[in-house]
Amino acid sequence: MAKRMALVTFGCQMNVHDSERIAALMGGAGYALVDDPEGADVVVLNTCSVREKAEQKLRSEAGRLKKLDTVLVVAGCVAQQEGERLVKSMPFIDVVVGPDNLGELPGLVRAAEMGAASAVRTVFDLDAPRFLPFDAVSTEATANPSAFVTTMKGCNERCSFCIVPYTRGPERYRSSDEIVDEIKRLVDHGAREVVLLGQTVNSYVEAGAPALDGDDPDGSQFPWLLRRIAREVPGLDRLRYTSPHPRHVTPALVAAHAELEVLAEHVHMPVQSGSDRVLKRMIRRYTRAEYVKRLKALAAARPGLTLSTDVIVGFPGETREEFEETLSLVEEMNFVGLFGFKYSPRPNTPALKLKDDVAEAEKQARLEALFARSEAQTRAHLASLVGTRAEVLLEGPSRVGEGSLVGRTRRNELVHVATPEGMAGVGAGAVVVVEVARANKHSLEGRIERVKVPGHALQRAAKAPRKVGLPVVTA
Ligand code: SF4
Repeated sequence: MAKRMALVTFGCQMNVHDSERIAALMGGAGYALVDDPEGADVVVLNTCSVREKAEQKLRSEAGRLKKLDTVLVVAGCVAQQEGERLVKSMPFIDVVVGPDNLGELPGLVRAAEMGAASAVRTVFDLDAPRFLPFDAVSTEATANPSAFVTTMKGCNERCSFCIVPYTRGPERYRSSDEIVDEIKRLVDHGAREVVLLGQTVNSYVEAGAPALDGDDPDGSQFPWLLRRIAREVPGLDRLRYTSPHPRHVTPALVAAHAELEVLAEHVHMPVQSGSDRVLKRMIRRYTRAEYVKRLKALAAARPGLTLSTDVIVGFPGETREEFEETLSLVEEMNFVGLFGFKYSPRPNTPALKLKDDVAEAEKQARLEALFARSEAQTRAHLASLVGTRAEVLLEGPSRVGEGSLVGRTRRNELVHVATPEGMAGVGAGAVVVVEVARANKHSLEGRIERVKVPGHALQRAAKAPRKVGLPVVTA
């Protein structure tokens, strides 16, 4: 009988993607994914340390699982950050494994089942970086309609609030041959859309690649990578990337958006603050004016391209006036989506030297003002789409109504549709033309007019990993 593994994911897309790899890897070793940790042979907590809240959630979840008769694994960024300290403070944890050591997980779990002492593996693969492909273990795996592909890992920036350079190490890049090969195989397995993943995805470089982006001070070859994917995988419908850094938005990237049909009409570009003084203290290495100029060029390159962003409020020393500058930037850029966070001091970050001097109540008030502004923009944007038509890639069942499906437009709006009786080819993986009938707070509802590309009979090899916590996006 197959063994059972429960997998709980905290944090960002990178972690969601790592969880897919964990599921595939452990699936190949004979562990079937189950929802409920009760009765599972192995429970993996894939952790995040970018926000204090996510770290607290790990500690309370681990404490809750202590009583179960299971092998308990802590993976991800808290594992990397805390290492041996986790086992010392919670000796019931059997395995601590960092993001670069996931390939060792099946062996570590087997050893724990045989009664081995708690094991800690948190070594960066600096000399020979490894990237686990989606079918590393199981060739039976069927891709989601929208799939992540890792292009790089680590981060060379030193944003003063961010723990990622410490938990994920310096930048290491995957070869473009490997990236293109994985995308081709995903498309062959049913993926219609690919999201390129990297901590600063647009700082991608490959030794020996023919065309440097001369506009980028660091010589990023990301636009070259986008062009290579567009040329060599013509069957791909949509290409997105996350999370880019504004420093690497160059004329070559703008030109790629203007010329490559496959690039979706939406870019998520973290800004973090609209105040130059705060940006400097955050060590973001761009000014507000540079951000605005680059992003407006990007938006102008493609009709209908929408923008979203990340913002931190209450950074040390942020005055009310500086926060107002962020509000004015949100309005000026007309962001249609925004993730906002209150600053919280993280271990091993340069900002620890600054005084966390914005009171909690003031941080909360600024966050609420930020959401009020951004949600008004989101609502106005969604309302403007009622009565229009949009191409929607259907991803699976919707929670809105029995038999409904949910998908995304090329601009990344979430759309719920009823399944029309007698219309062939409607299902996950289908691209359908939808007439937008109604705008909700964060999504649209519509009616399918016709099927542009029929869906596949998608059978996921494993259930989607359970996700807990905040949608954390960095860079
Ligand atoms: S916020 Fe992004 S760019 Fe800055 S250090 Fe963290 S991961 Fe790197």
